[in-house]
Amino acid sequence: MQFALVDNIRREASPGLKGICDNCGSTMISKCGDRIVHHWAHHRIRNCDPWWENETEWHRKWKELFPERCREVLHVAENGEIHRADVKTENGIYIEFQHSSMNDEERLSREKFYKNLVWIVDGLPFINNFHIFHGLPCSRSEVAKDLVWYKSKKGMRGTESGMFWRISENPDLTSKMVLLDTKTDRKSLLESSYKGDHQYDWVRPRQTWLEATCPVYIDFGEEYLVKLENYPMANSSKINTIKIIPKKRFLEDITSKRFIHEIGDF
Ligand SMILES: [Zn+2]
Repeated sequence: MQFALVDNIRREASPGLKGICDNCGSTMISKCGDRIVHHWAHHRIRNCDPWWENETEWHRKWKELFPERCREVLHVAENGEIHRADVKTENGIYIEFQHSSMNDEERLSREKFYKNLVWIVDGLPFINNFHIFHGLPCSRSEVAKDLVWYKSKKGMRGTESGMFWRISENPDLTSKMVLLDTKTDRKSLLESSYKGDHQYDWVRPRQTWLEATCPVYIDFGEEYLVKLENYPMANSSKINTIKIIPKKRFLEDITSKRFIHEIGDF
């Protein structure tokens, strides 16, 4: 943890300092080695919050984008259950930064516990399995209302650059044969309707994130985040897509909005 109570004041770890956990009251020992992120650890016991993940440099960098009072904030549920959120914004949005893999059960419990929660997942461990392909028109745009896309697959070149058919050219939706649109210039489709949506293929995905009920943003160490989305199409089916959201925009939204669905909604 980044903070522990020393004489009742939240302090960062520094060599030789002892503190107290603000949740369980145990003694906390400062860990300040050369090769580790300086932090506090419970003395003799594991972290009193079973959801707590050991902090990496990545966690710390993210948390430091938020004011100190917003980091490591205890949340008490109506039934008395207590957990420590990585960040709680001034407006009551919770953020959890997740580096390790996670099982469905824990993911769901945390979503139910915090409710107004966004996940930020460290994408570097699986960056080589995550392929981002062609852009899509915003699903709410006029042009999108006529298009049905094929899911992009790594190695299937047609789908990597965008393969679709039009409802207007295939009025019989029960037919198994469709006429592909090969005429339309893909760039012109996006001219006035691109809002960061893309197709992608995640080989050996971490399935739990695809089933999350709270928004999932993946951080590949770039200037943008990759938000997992479901893209509704003209024939009422959906495909998994992503939305590219500049980090700057994300940070503006997450500190000014009150609800998770208002973030990156442009
Ligand atoms: Zn504790």
